[in-house]
Amino acid sequence: MPEQSTSQSPDVIIIGAGAAGLMCAIAAGQRGRRVLVLEHANKVGKKILMSGGGRCNFTNLFTAPDNFISANQHFCKSALSRFTQHDFIALVHKHGIAFHEKKLGQLFCDNKSRDILNMLLAECDAAGVCIQTSVSVGKVQAVSDGFQLTTTTASLQCQSLVIATGGLSIPKMGATGFGYALAKQFGLQVLPTSPALVPFTLSADLLQAFAGLSGVSAAVEVSCNGVRFSENMLFTHRGLSGPAMLQMSSYWRPGASVEINVLPQMDVLAELRKARQNSPKITVSAWLAAHLSKNLARCLLQLWCPQLQDQRLADCADADFSKLQRLFCQWQLKPNGTEGYRTAEVTLGGVATAEVSSKSFVARNQPGLYFIGEVLDVTGQLGGYNFQWAWASGHACGQCV
Ligand SMILES: Cc1cc2nc3c(=O)[nH]c(=O)nc-3n(C[C@H](O)[C@H](O)[C@H](O)COP(=O)(O)OP(=O)(O)OC[C@H]3O[C@@H](n4cnc5c(N)ncnc54)[C@H](O)[C@@H]3O)c2cc1C
Repeated sequence: MPEQSTSQSPDVIIIGAGAAGLMCAIAAGQRGRRVLVLEHANKVGKKILMSGGGRCNFTNLFTAPDNFISANQHFCKSALSRFTQHDFIALVHKHGIAFHEKKLGQLFCDNKSRDILNMLLAECDAAGVCIQTSVSVGKVQAVSDGFQLTTTTASLQCQSLVIATGGLSIPKMGATGFGYALAKQFGLQVLPTSPALVPFTLSADLLQAFAGLSGVSAAVEVSCNGVRFSENMLFTHRGLSGPAMLQMSSYWRPGASVEINVLPQMDVLAELRKARQNSPKITVSAWLAAHLSKNLARCLLQLWCPQLQDQRLADCADADFSKLQRLFCQWQLKPNGTEGYRTAEVTLGGVATAEVSSKSFVARNQPGLYFIGEVLDVTGQLGGYNFQWAWASGHACGQCV
C-alpha cells in the first residue's frame, strides 16, 4: 500500500504496524476516526509475513480463553468474545483468500502470509488509514487534550494514543521494549517478560548423546507444571524443538524438568508382555524400533540401559519391562535453557492487565492511552491463538479510540 501523509492532525496515533496495530487502525478508521500508524521498521507486518512458516496460521477454529497465559485468566475473555475467530474468517472469505485447516483447528493460508497482510492493508486503505514506516518515536508527553509525540520526522499531536509495539521476540524483525518503557513512563506496572514458544537448549553431554538425531521427530506427550501437550518433538543441533516443546516452553521455568512420554500411544508394559509371548525371540531394540524411529530407539537405549539393547524379550523379566516403561514414558529431561528472544515466537508477561480496561484497552490511570496485542500480559499457545488475540484486542480498542 502506498504511504500517505496527513495534512490534518490525526485523532488517533497507533505506534506499531503489526497485527494488532493494523486491526485497530481498520476498526477506528471505519468509525470515521482519522488514524495515523507509525512503524519504525522499513516495512509493515514483518511478523505476519514470517509467520506460520510463510503461510500465516492466522487463527484457530477452537480459540477459547484457556488457550492464553496471563496473570488474569479472565482479561482476554471480553475482547475474544466480541471479535471471534469466525469474524476474522469472514474477513478472510470477503477477500477471497484460500485457506485450510492444517490440524487441531489451525487455519493457514493456502498460498502466502502476504495474502493476510495485503488484506489488512486493503482494509486500512478503504478506511482512510495513514501509515508511515521508518519513523521512530522519541518523546511522548500527555498534554491537555491528548498526547504530543516527537518523531524523527515531525512533532505530532493526537487525542488517543495506541501502543501496539508487540513483544521482545526476534529483535532483528523490529521488536523493541518501547511499549514497556512507555507503560512505565505513565506509571503502569510491567510484569517480568521471558521468551516463549521457543526451542529448548540442552547441556553439552545431552547434545553429544543426541548428535546423530538432528532432524528426527517423534510424536510424544510432554508435561510440566500440570500442563500436558500431545504433539511432535523435534531433535535439532541445538536441543529440542517441534510443537510439543515450543508449547511446553511457555509453561517451563528455568531449573525445572519436563516429563516426556515417547510412546504415548500404548500401554508399554502390557504391549511388552504380549510381545514376549507372541515374539519371544525379538530383541528389545527391535521391538522399540517398530514403535519409534530406529535411530531414536537405538540412541535412547544406549543412553539409558545399554545392557537391555540386545536382550531377547524372552529373557526379560517384568522388572526390565517396568524399567523400560519408566524410562520411555516418564523421561525426566532438564533443559539447559531456551534459545531466547532470538528465535522465540512470543513474549510472556508485559504490561499488567490490571492496569488496562478489558473492554476498551485504555490505561486506567491515563485517559487516551491504550495498549493492545502482545505488549500486554496475554500470551497465546501455539496454533493461531496469538494472531487471534492481536485481531480481537485491536478490534475492541478500535471501537473506543
Ligand atoms: C517466527 C514467528 C512465527 C509466528 N507465527 C505465528 C502464527 O503462525 N500464528 C500466530 O498466531 N502467531 C504467530 N506468531 C506470533 C505473532 O506473530 C505475534 O503474537 C503477533 O504478531 C503480535 O502482534 P502485535 O501486533 O502485538 O505485535 P507485532 O506483530 O510484533 O507488531 C509490533 C510492531 O511494532 C513495531 N514496533 C516495535 N517497536 C516500535 C517502535 N519503538 N516504534 C514504532 N514501531 C515499533 C514492530 O516493528 C512491529 O511492526 C509468530 C511469531 C514469530 C516471531
